[in-house]
Amino acid sequence: MRDGAGAPAKSREVAPGIHQVFLPLPSKPSIVNVWLIDGGGEWALVDTGTALETSREALLGVLASLGLSPRDLAVVIGTHHHPDHFGASEDLRALGAGEFLLHAAELERIEYALSAGSDDMVRHSRRHGIPIPDQPIDAPSPMDVWSRVFRPTRAIDRFLDDGDEIRVGRRRFEVVWTPGHTPGHCCLLERERGLLLVGDHLLPKITPHVGVYATGPRNPLGDFLASLEKVAGLDVSLVCPAHGGVYADHRHRAHQIVAHHEHRMREMLDTVRSGPCTALDVARRSFHWVFSDGGDRFQAGAAVMETIAHLELLAARGEIDRDESDPVLLWRAARR
Ligand SMILES: [Zn+2]
Repeated sequence: MRDGAGAPAKSREVAPGIHQVFLPLPSKPSIVNVWLIDGGGEWALVDTGTALETSREALLGVLASLGLSPRDLAVVIGTHHHPDHFGASEDLRALGAGEFLLHAAELERIEYALSAGSDDMVRHSRRHGIPIPDQPIDAPSPMDVWSRVFRPTRAIDRFLDDGDEIRVGRRRFEVVWTPGHTPGHCCLLERERGLLLVGDHLLPKITPHVGVYATGPRNPLGDFLASLEKVAGLDVSLVCPAHGGVYADHRHRAHQIVAHHEHRMREMLDTVRSGPCTALDVARRSFHWVFSDGGDRFQAGAAVMETIAHLELLAARGEIDRDESDPVLLWRAARR
């Protein structure tokens, strides 16, 4: 069947009944993969892409090339709430797609993103050493950043929980809760075929952002590393990631990412041992390229949040302590 209008349909069947759909993103990474699952007459979609027109056209084009419309989607599952994953869910609901499934913690993040101002972020940033002038405060709210790409549905029909079974026609998928990148991030495992849809949890070429924000949780990197070990314990033969191509050796990749963060933590521990410092000080050392002239301030902010995640895990392990005597939080080596 031909797609009458819009961008050419871009998809690839990577395993029987599993279609990788390539959707455009406005910035790097430039593509998000969403996944169409054919359960034999019943279809599911895992992740939706952003709310951008170009993304919707690309998705509708792929659906049409398979003889489908959004009404044929019995289930839409969000691995997590981020705009490239769940940003088009409200539009798909309006177009007649079926049940929407998401972890409850992700709906909380959606509610927060839709309603929050910039106060929490300003307070949190200052506490960690980022200088933000009193007047004018030009810190953006979440929706200032996401308005073009984020139209999530809040009408979730079923909340995902660890170990839940999701049936798509005659196929069965198991929910694997993998907090870290976000608190309610979930992967989907088809045990029978050793197929694992990982969202952003286990990407082949890049590591997902794991940062500490004003609303917590406090130790997301600890959660993320535990989630990597959890996934490494599964029997899997094909990994379907949200960015990059499918691959086979999930254990190797999981351990590589754990090693990457352990290395970064050791480096940050050295910095803190050289004298008390703020998260911003540590970030400048560990992510120096982000803070160079002409660096992007959003990237710089993200680097600080990621640094706090490493520092919190070091604190949870007893390697460093917080010094809360000052309005700006200082980190120092633990007395042994
Ligand atoms: Zn994400």
